[in-house]
Order: sequence, then C-alpha cells, then structure tokens
Amino acid sequence: MKYSEICGVYEKLSVTSGRLEKTSIVSEFIKKIAKHGNPEWIYLLRGRVLPDYDVREFGISRQIIIKTLSKSFGVLSSEVLSEFNKIGDLGEIAEKFAGKRKQSTLFSSSSLSIDKVFDGLMKIFALEGKGSVDKKVSVVSEILSSASGIEAKYIVRTLLGDLRVGIAESTIKDAIAESLFPEDKKSYAELIESAYDLSNDYAEIFAAAVKGKKEIEKISISPGKPMNVMLAVKAEDIEDAFRICGKPAAIENKYDGFRVVISKKNKEIKLFTRKLEEVTSQFPDIIEVVKKNISGESFILDSEAVGYDPKTKKVKPFESVSQRIKRKHHIERLVKELPVDVHIFDVMYYNGKSVMHLPFSERRKIIEKIIHPEKLKINIAEQIITDNEKRAEEFYKQALKKGEEGIMVKSLSSPYKPGRRVGHMVKLKPSSSEFDLVITGAEHGTGKRAGWLTSYIVACASEKGFLNIGKVSSGLKEKESEGTTYREMTKLLKPLIKSEKGRVVYVKPKIVVSVTYQNIQKSPSYNSGYALRFPRITFYRPERSTKDIATLEDVKKAVVCTSFHSL
Ligand code: AMP
Repeated sequence: MKYSEICGVYEKLSVTSGRLEKTSIVSEFIKKIAKHGNPEWIYLLRGRVLPDYDVREFGISRQIIIKTLSKSFGVLSSEVLSEFNKIGDLGEIAEKFAGKRKQSTLFSSSSLSIDKVFDGLMKIFALEGKGSVDKKVSVVSEILSSASGIEAKYIVRTLLGDLRVGIAESTIKDAIAESLFPEDKKSYAELIESAYDLSNDYAEIFAAAVKGKKEIEKISISPGKPMNVMLAVKAEDIEDAFRICGKPAAIENKYDGFRVVISKKNKEIKLFTRKLEEVTSQFPDIIEVVKKNISGESFILDSEAVGYDPKTKKVKPFESVSQRIKRKHHIERLVKELPVDVHIFDVMYYNGKSVMHLPFSERRKIIEKIIHPEKLKINIAEQIITDNEKRAEEFYKQALKKGEEGIMVKSLSSPYKPGRRVGHMVKLKPSSSEFDLVITGAEHGTGKRAGWLTSYIVACASEKGFLNIGKVSSGLKEKESEGTTYREMTKLLKPLIKSEKGRVVYVKPKIVVSVTYQNIQKSPSYNSGYALRFPRITFYRPERSTKDIATLEDVKKAVVCTSFHSL
C-alpha cells in the first residue's frame, strides 16, 4: 500500500472535528489494512511505529530535522530556520520545499510505500552513540528523497512526535470495533479496551480481532513485557475506605517510594515502572534480591521500592531515590549510596498463568508462599484484615507514626484490574494540598536564571485533553545536590518544545511533577477555569505518565475541600 493513502487519512482527520466522523475515517483505513496490510501500520495512525509499551523514542530534535531538510532539499539551514520562525511547523516547511523540488512533477504521484516509510523509521532506533546524528540525517533524507510534499510533511511530523491531526487513543479502539464488528461495535470497543489494558499493543489486538472474538479474549499479560498497573482511588476517611472496599478489608502501609513491576520468565528478570519504562539496568541490587528471595519459574509482581539512608537506615524522600531511576551511569556507586527496600504487595502472574482473576486474598497467599523476606532488602507489605473501624484507625495512626505516607485499603474479593482506577484499592493519607500535574509550557528565565527554562505552565487531565491550571516558578533548585535543578528540567523540556511565542515555549505534555499549593481559585486566566495559588514543585516524577496526573474532577473536589477548610 502506498504511504499517500495514510497521508490522505491524516489530511481528512486534520479537518474533521467530530469524534464519530474521525472514527469512521480511521475505520475505513483499518478495513484496508485488514485486507492488504500489516497490523503494525496501525501504529502510524498515532504517529508511531512501536506498540505503546515500547517507550523508545526516535531521538530526533528540531535541529536534526532542520539539518535534514537542508540536505534533502539543497537549501541553507539558515533558510529553513527563518521559515521555521515564520511558520512554526517543520512539517509544513518540508511540504513546501518538497513541493518546490525541480523533480517535483516526478513525485506528484509518489510511489513511496508504507513499508518503506515504516522500515526506514524503524532503522532510526538502532542509531545510537557517536556519529548517530549524521546517520539519522542520512536515513531520513533517504525516506524524504522519494516523498511528495504531503508525505514529507507527515514523515517530519511523525519524527517529531507531533502529527497535529487530533487523534485520540480511544479513536483507534472504536475504529477497530467499527471496522471489524459493525453490528456490535459498542461491546467490542469495551472488549478491545480491556485487551489494551493487558497488552498495550493495538497491532496485537487488531491481528487478533481480525481472527475473531475468541482470539481477543486470549490476549493476556506476559512476563518480560511491561504492563499497566492497577490504580488507587482516594478515600476521604476510614469509613469511606470501607464503604468502597467492603468489610472486612485488607489494610496495608502505603510505602513512600516508587512503583516497580518485577517480572521473571526463563530465568530473566526485568523491572518496569508504572510508565512502562524498563529500569532493569538501574537496579542490579533488586535483581539480586529477586533471584535470591523469590521462588517461582515465572511471575509478575507489583511492589513499592523505598530508598533509605545506608547509615541511619531511615527512609529517604522520593526525590533522592528518583536519582536511581534517572541515572544510567555510576550505578554501582548509587546502589551503595541509595539502597532500596522492596515491599511486595500484589501478584498478577505466577508460574505460566495470569492470576489477576483471583480474589486479592488468594493472590496474597501466593505472595506469602513465594517471597522469603530479608530485612531492608525485600518484604511483604505489612497487612491486617479487619472490619473494625477503630482497629483500622489505629493501624493508620501507627503507619503515620512510622513515617509511612498513609495506608492502602483493599477489597479482599476483587480481581486485579490493570490500568484502571477502580475501587478495588483505595489510598488514605493526611489531606495534602498536592497534585501530580503535567508541564505544558515554560518561560525562558532571566537574570540569574538566564539560559534555563523556568516558570512552568502545569495542567491537569480532562476528557477534552490537558487543561492548564497554573504557572509554577518555585521549588526547583539551583544546585544539583539539593534536588531536581532548573538546568535538569531545561534539558528534559527542550527536546519537547512544539512552538515558541516570545519568551514562552509550549512543550509536548510528558513531564510530570508533584505540585503543592495553598489554595485553588476560580480563574479565567487558565483554560481549566481554575488557578493554583502559591504553587511549588516538590518533585519531578520521572516514573509517572500523564495517565497518573490529577483530573479536572480532582481539582473541583479539592476546591470544595479548600473552601470548606477556610470556613
Ligand atoms: P498515589 O501514588 O498517591 O496514587 O498512591 C498509589 C501508589 O501508592 C501506588 O501506585 C503505589 O506506588 C504506592 N503504594 C505504596 N504502598 C502500597 C501498597 N501497600 N499497596 C499498593 N500501592 C502502594
């Protein structure tokens, strides 16, 4: 199939706003893939070539694209740059230059195939280290050499991770259902969504769906691959927690570290964050402990790894243990300086089978059987089972006294639901005015902070997309030893810049931070309709994704709470 066919889909999507219309455009294309294509092409619809669980990036910056366009179209980099400053979209610039080529008539009906683009894009992941920029430029130039204007536009936008056609993840799910099961698309969309929570791979689901319902139902989790974890609902108090989880319920400490999914298959142990990122190489200490202290041929376990001070043995705040996730070098030194204690609290897969359907009480029995605790290395989450509110309250007090963040209350009879914020497990912690939010923009600093991006625009999630809720200028540090620095944040944000206006840059929403605030006000200044007062960044959360951030509903609830407290 020709690449121009998928570009036609992008073009239609970019001028269509209704969700149903978008779904039917995608569904028509999916029917064609089912007949003549490769299921993996479905990734291209969202500007990717990999399943969502594979978090590798092209690593192509705007600078690399500018260099490539200059090489491919025989124009000066400065010319591309000045066009970029006018238009603000390198995709459109590629379209313009490709259209102007001498041989453009030759390419007016390009013969570029989807396979050629897909394979070319896949090659980029293998290019790393010294000389990789030039190699990337060559690979992209090669693809662009036979592209028409429109094709060049979407190749460039795909490389920059910004298709600008407005396609939501849910559209893919609905479109698969609509194209293959038009008679019962609603219930199939739900089935596909559940399968997605297990596999994070639309190509796998699509390939199964083409064969029929039974094949979709066979999709399961498997060790060695990252998976979505079950998310917690917030409870107001103990009574509320019991109301959600039923009585009796399991109550556990809420450890303050970061979530690690531990998986083992064929003697190979891998570690993943809740953002589906693999962190195996950063934690050789956890791998050792898992080898020594957990029995079982294959498994997937859910756990919280908590950093502690090797001298005092006291729990360290998240900020310091986050160094372990971020750093890829000097790992041996960090293992000594920032050891972690792993608390296992759930099991999703054991000895060749998914155990997610089992009630939590049964899953806990598996954990108790296979984990051999060792002090300050690995243990099973401390737990009581009770229907007594006083006893639960006492456990909560004790947890706080020990320095834990709070407690988790869990329904004993519930299955494990990956990726869902269901009421099978709730969190209870002292009310704090804090949200996890995503950065959508920043400002170039001045004076002492010149050269850095400072003042971050932060947003919460809503059905309509991310909605801004404030601008945070404080909390980050100037010295590395004190925590996340402005320099570090600038390095993270720069490759994500989508556009600039004066001193403000707008970035792809990827970086999650924890933000505390004094209160929340209704405000027309931000498109959420609310503004945080005196916000401050407490932590950069490298292990969290936009799926984990506060929603507009959470913000509205907090407004009610803050106004209640100030009465
Ligand atoms: P929050 O991050 O505030 O949504 O709280 C939920 C998080 O608490 C989970 O994602 C885990 O990382 C963490 N956690 C700590 N202890 C436990 C536990 N015993 N059971 C489940 N989650 C826990």
